Amino acid sequence: MSEISTALKEFQKTLPAHVTLVAVSKTKPMSLIQEAYDAGQRIFGENRPQELAEKAASMPEDIQWHMIGHLQSNKVKYIIHEVAMIHSIDSLGLLDEIEKRAKKIDRKIDVLLQVHIAKEEQKHGFDEEDLHMISSKKLLERYPHIVVRGLMGMATFTEDEKQIRTEFKSLKNTFDSLKNDRGENFDTLSMGMSGDHKIAIEEGSTMVRIGSSIFGNR
Ligand SMILES: *Cc1c(COP(=O)(O)O)cnc(C)c1O
Repeated sequence: MSEISTALKEFQKTLPAHVTLVAVSKTKPMSLIQEAYDAGQRIFGENRPQELAEKAASMPEDIQWHMIGHLQSNKVKYIIHEVAMIHSIDSLGLLDEIEKRAKKIDRKIDVLLQVHIAKEEQKHGFDEEDLHMISSKKLLERYPHIVVRGLMGMATFTEDEKQIRTEFKSLKNTFDSLKNDRGENFDTLSMGMSGDHKIAIEEGSTMVRIGSSIFGNR
C-alpha cells in the first residue's frame, strides 16, 4: 500500500459517516492524486483555477473537483465545465459571472457562501450580517443556474483552541438560522482543515477540507 492510501484510510477512520472528505490536492502532482483515487477518494480540492482545469483534463472523469480558494471573476471560465462545487463565493459579482457562464453551457453549479469568521484581515468572505441579505430567496432567484448548498469558513490560524471553537460555533449558528428558510438543498457546512478538523466536526461541520494530513506538507 502506498503512503497516501495508508494516510487516507487512517484519516477516514476518524471521520463520522455524515462528514464528507475533500482531499486538498493543491500544488500536488497528479501521480499522488491518482494514488488517492486508487484508494477510493473521489472528491479533490484545488485553489488555483488553471491548476484545477489542467488536472481535471487529464484525470479520471468521475473525480469531483471542488474549488476552495479565492476565485476572481475573470477566472471562472477556466473551471466552469469541470467544477463540482465552489466553496469560495465572496461577492455578488462572482455569482453574476458564474450564472452567466453556467447558463451558457446549461449547467447548474453547486456553491457555498464563504463567511469571514476569522480575526485575520487577509481571509475572504461575507460578514455574517451580510449573509441574510445575500441568501434571501428573492436575491437568489436571480441565479437559476446556481444552487447555494451552504456555507464555508476558515478559522483563525492560531494555537488557541477556544478561539477556533468560538469561530466555528458562530458559523454553525449562522448556518442553522439560514437553513430554516433556505430549506432542503442547504445542507453543507464546509469547515475544518488538517489542523482544526476535530474541533470543526465537534461543532457541526459536514465537510472537511484536508490537505497536509493526507498528502504531506506543502
Ligand atoms: C489549503 C487549504 C486547505 C487544506 O489545508 P491543510 O492544512 O493542508 O489541511 C483547506 N481549505 C482551504 C481553503 C485551503 O486553501
